[in-house]
Amino acid sequence: MNINVISVFPEIIEASMHGLTGKAFKAKKAKLELFDLKKFSKTEYGSVDDSPYGGGEGMVISAEPLADCIKEIDTPGHVIYLTPQGESFNQKKSLELSKHKDITFVCGRYEGIDQRFINKYVNEELSIGDYVLSGGEIAACVVIDSILRNIEGVIGNKESVSKDSFSDGKLKGHVYTRPKEFEGSHVPEILLSGDHKKIEEWKLANSLWVTKQKRPDLFKQIQLSEKEMILLRQYEEQFNKK
Ligand code: SAM
Repeated sequence: MNINVISVFPEIIEASMHGLTGKAFKAKKAKLELFDLKKFSKTEYGSVDDSPYGGGEGMVISAEPLADCIKEIDTPGHVIYLTPQGESFNQKKSLELSKHKDITFVCGRYEGIDQRFINKYVNEELSIGDYVLSGGEIAACVVIDSILRNIEGVIGNKESVSKDSFSDGKLKGHVYTRPKEFEGSHVPEILLSGDHKKIEEWKLANSLWVTKQKRPDLFKQIQLSEKEMILLRQYEEQFNKK
């Protein structure tokens, strides 16, 4: 996958590509190219923004430097503008985007970017949540990190991605590591039993229970099998006894 990012502050993107994302690029599972919008400025001061027509607060990124910049990209592919006005980003969208060969992210700043650029060059507008950030760079990093996880070979253990929260509509359950006892609190006995069937059943019931507690909206959408209903009921009975 070739990922291009257009931004006034490309260094923000570069700095965030560490750990798994950094490894993915080093291992050539994906290629990242950053485009500094300032280099496409039409002014002697190197600015890429101007005051809004019709008045109002803040500045707007002009369409011309954005268009010149995107024309420099050999194959921009699917062009995404990160904006609070976009469709909400989620795991389903992440999986869908990870199938693209070429993808270009456009990061806004200030009051946003000229609508005429969006109309002509943008295929999709995406928001990472109902709040306002100062720029699209952090949003682009969030989306890039998430889609890289879906690319074959980026995560060593394939199972880990398929069991992540949201992959099958529910949240991942509780996880534990050594020591067996921490400040008087113990790891659930079943996880130490070595009985793989019982452990898998516990994990399933725990994940359903966690989803029901933390995200009742998601839980409502799950079509529980008879076995899942029984496991969850047993888990709740055990929990209520404690
Ligand atoms: N005035 C705009 C509004 O109210 O919708 C907000 C502009 S914001 C200060 C500047 C840039 O940050 C946007 O152009 C966009 O690229 C990015 N941004 C802010 N919040 C975002 C979000 N929730 N998701 C994705 N991008 C966001």
